[in-house]
Amino acid sequence: MDFRDCRSMTVVLVPHCVLNQNSRLAGCAERPSAVHELVEGLMQRQIGIVQMPCPELMVLGLDRQHIQIRSGLESHPVRQAFRQWARELVYQIQQYRQCGVKVLGVLGKNGSPACGVEETWRLERGPGMGVFIEELKAALQEAGVELPLAGTMDAEPQAALGIVDKWQAGG
Ligand code: SF4
Repeated sequence: MDFRDCRSMTVVLVPHCVLNQNSRLAGCAERPSAVHELVEGLMQRQIGIVQMPCPELMVLGLDRQHIQIRSGLESHPVRQAFRQWARELVYQIQQYRQCGVKVLGVLGKNGSPACGVEETWRLERGPGMGVFIEELKAALQEAGVELPLAGTMDAEPQAALGIVDKWQAGG
């Protein structure tokens, strides 16, 4: 099938809360709705935006407590659920690639117990991956899919766009 209609044939994966800050735990939303500079920058570049699930909302609910999040995510059943969602994302990635759509990479959210890439949260903020990103990385490896992952911050949308530009340039 030839998919070359008006679509850009390029997508990037983003954390759920980039498009919907209402998924954040109490006190942690940084914008009323979306990280609009990042979203608008991706749209200006004609990059499709794949919204990943919000792992914490799905397993701990919206009224979750910051201090209990990491331990809540580390349990075996939660990791199993994350691995399943990660496999579903990998399926989407494979479908895009099989049909010629360029999947640039995965943007995570640094500092998050679930979605951090270079920095996460255990008892405090520190280096390491969030639990969902760990499972996504494992699911990508399991499927033999190579894809870059990078952490971003809401306050640094231009840095996130710089990462995407590098990916698009093949760097
Ligand atoms: S768990 Fe991930 S998607 Fe959900 S609010 Fe935290 S960083 Fe955003």
